[in-house]
Amino acid sequence: MYFSNRSFLARYGLAVILVSLALTTKLIVGGWFGIERPFLLLFAAVTVTALYGGLGPAILAITLASLGTAYFFLPNLNSLHLDHVSLLRLVTFAAETLTVSLFISALHRARRRSEAEAIELGRSRELFKNTFEHAAVGLAHVGTDGRFLRVNQPLCDMLGYTREELLRRSFQEITHPDDLAADLQRLRKLLAGDTDTYSIEKRYFRADGSIIWINLTVSIVRSTATCSDYFISVIEDITKRKRAEEEILRLNERLELRVEERTRELEEANGELRAFTYSIAHDLRAPLTSLQGLAQALLDDCGETMTPEAREYASRISAASARMDRMTQDLLGYSQVHRTELVLEPVELEKVVDEALAQASAQMAATGAETRVERPMPAVIAHAATLQQIIANLLSNAIKFVPSGAVPRIVIRAEPRGRMVRLWVEDNGIGIAPEHRERIFGVFERLHAGGGYSGTGIGLAIVRRGAERMGGSTDVESMPGEGSRFWVELPMAG
Ligand code: ADP
Repeated sequence: MYFSNRSFLARYGLAVILVSLALTTKLIVGGWFGIERPFLLLFAAVTVTALYGGLGPAILAITLASLGTAYFFLPNLNSLHLDHVSLLRLVTFAAETLTVSLFISALHRARRRSEAEAIELGRSRELFKNTFEHAAVGLAHVGTDGRFLRVNQPLCDMLGYTREELLRRSFQEITHPDDLAADLQRLRKLLAGDTDTYSIEKRYFRADGSIIWINLTVSIVRSTATCSDYFISVIEDITKRKRAEEEILRLNERLELRVEERTRELEEANGELRAFTYSIAHDLRAPLTSLQGLAQALLDDCGETMTPEAREYASRISAASARMDRMTQDLLGYSQVHRTELVLEPVELEKVVDEALAQASAQMAATGAETRVERPMPAVIAHAATLQQIIANLLSNAIKFVPSGAVPRIVIRAEPRGRMVRLWVEDNGIGIAPEHRERIFGVFERLHAGGGYSGTGIGLAIVRRGAERMGGSTDVESMPGEGSRFWVELPMAG
């Protein structure tokens, strides 16, 4: 037990008691030692105090012993007046005992330090052992030849080996042959000092021959006086994650295959549908034309002999077949937009707008429509005929869908938007409710069929499909009663 563990009182009390004892003993049995040797017992008292009380109490003991000796034993007894010789002896005593006390104190300190170091070492060992054994991952020290030098229990459990079995093996023996080269290559780099650490995902064979995926992180410990180079390996079982990844990959592949298959089926069905629409529309026109012609001939040739009722029926047949003819023509136009091979090239937008305006001139004249074209306009990449058809359809609608009696006022302008050009056709017409914005671009979709506005509901479907086929898009901004602003966006030329 160290004196530092004893109380202050006990240590200093020990000094007082021991010195008092030595002085008393000396006083009582002084004759046995003779007055010439007054320090022997006191020397022992100071030494014992230094041993069991430490340096402070030892200094107190030296002081008390010196005073006691001077008073009781040195010449001029019962007085502290000393001659030179006595003073020298007393100083010598004090110096000797102080030296011994300092020496004992130094010894104590050294012993305490080494014991503290031993305790610390023990704690570190314990800590290392606990960390190594109770880690949530597999840990191993591996020699430079690949042999396992130390393994923890989680690693043994992961691989299904006992500790002894695993320590008889090398990592090369349990690594999947396909993963070994990559691991060894990285290990060589680590040994050469090119890297400090590396991580790799690889496969290990378990004791029962099954395969597990692990994530391995390796670092190197360079040799010290007691130990040569070795690796520290941290091994994490990632089999579940790998299996999940493989499953996702497999599912993705299956999904892609199914999407491809469905797309092909859909394209085939679409193609068939378009061919069907085309042939229906095309083949319908001949009987329709003859129906219309025959109804007209009936009216022309036999009109006078027919009853008014029969004449009314014949005119209705003629009008209905004319309307149906218009619808089949539009349908043909729509299927044409799908079928025609579009060669895209730089097109002067202004020129195409002018041609579309010329195409709509009769309709404009009939309604007194006013148009304003903001020039100049940038060139676009497009198929000129399809673009003209698109603008003509938008113009025709802008002239058509105005409140009765109102004069259509139309503005046509274009603006660059990044690498695209947006062409606007704006009117002062009846407008469109926001909820119908998407619907109107569908085939045969008409919002104002009952309002005396003629049409077949195909014009905007052609606009959208045509724009898309030229790598563009189309939409409308509108509110009922506030006119409409249709736009078509196409890639800018140059
Ligand atoms: P159609 O003009 O033959 O009726 P569209 O496909 O060109 O067919 O247009 C579909 C519908 O969208 C029209 O019937 C009309 O209700 C609405 N529409 C198109 N353009 C305008 C416009 N400028 N103003 C108001 N409504 C419009």
